[in-house]
Amino acid sequence: MEPISEAVKIVSAVNSSLLAPSATTNTRTSQHECRMCADTGYQGWKTPHAGYSMEECIFCECATGQRVLEYWKRKSVAKKQADMEKLFVGACIPAHFRSFTLDSIRQRAVNEPDKKAAIDAVEQWITAGYVEDPATKRYKSGLVLAGDYGRGKTGTMTPAIRHSLEQGKSGLWIEVTDFVGAIQSGYRDGTSLERLEAAQKVDVILLDDLGDKSRDGAETDDRRRIIYQLVNYRHNNGLPMRITTNLNGQQMAAQFGGANCRANHGIVRMGEYGGAQFAPGVSQ
Ligand SMILES: [Zn+2]
Repeated sequence: MEPISEAVKIVSAVNSSLLAPSATTNTRTSQHECRMCADTGYQGWKTPHAGYSMEECIFCECATGQRVLEYWKRKSVAKKQADMEKLFVGACIPAHFRSFTLDSIRQRAVNEPDKKAAIDAVEQWITAGYVEDPATKRYKSGLVLAGDYGRGKTGTMTPAIRHSLEQGKSGLWIEVTDFVGAIQSGYRDGTSLERLEAAQKVDVILLDDLGDKSRDGAETDDRRRIIYQLVNYRHNNGLPMRITTNLNGQQMAAQFGGANCRANHGIVRMGEYGGAQFAPGVSQ
């Protein structure tokens, strides 16, 4: 009988220390709310402060551990974002688009029913985390808005990027021409790889204005290779993108090998293709 009553005593001591830690005696365990981590938030001695990566550290499941984990997560996103802004000038949402919300783009498009599908797709992505591809009816985690110049593709995509940033994710917003230019200009000073890697790994990316409709055939090898490395890496690592393009699906396939885009991006047309909707000189 003795061992059982010992066990009961121990259990009741544990319970009282959990319920009222300050009222218990000052044994080593009773000084801490969490006996797993002694209120440090870490299990084990590896911490980011000591130079270990977050993956190497074991964060406790208690409230303190989760607070510590949140702290390091925020810090790592902030660092990613700062690095991004060093590598790409103006890496985030341009001033002109900052005020765009789902409501404001719906307001603007109230007399343009041909934009509804695109706006709905952005809203679906924000609320559900995926987009139903109109052609295949499959759910995709990335989104391509395709349509002619001046249709407002970039503005329509803006709330999706804002949403991700507000969720504490790192983001890169970049026009394809600037992206390719930034990579190519880095060949001389050796920053190309660093830039490419940052774009490959950032949480969210808006690749704005992919393609050039006036080209019938393939892109130049270098330009195509640069874009392919970005698209393919993100595809293989489950990091889909937000893309705006004035190309249709066939042109995208011809210029960039569109299979990867098709695989994990819903492709939603914005407005009609063709001459009637073309509005030269209108900034998107
Ligand atoms: Zn703990």
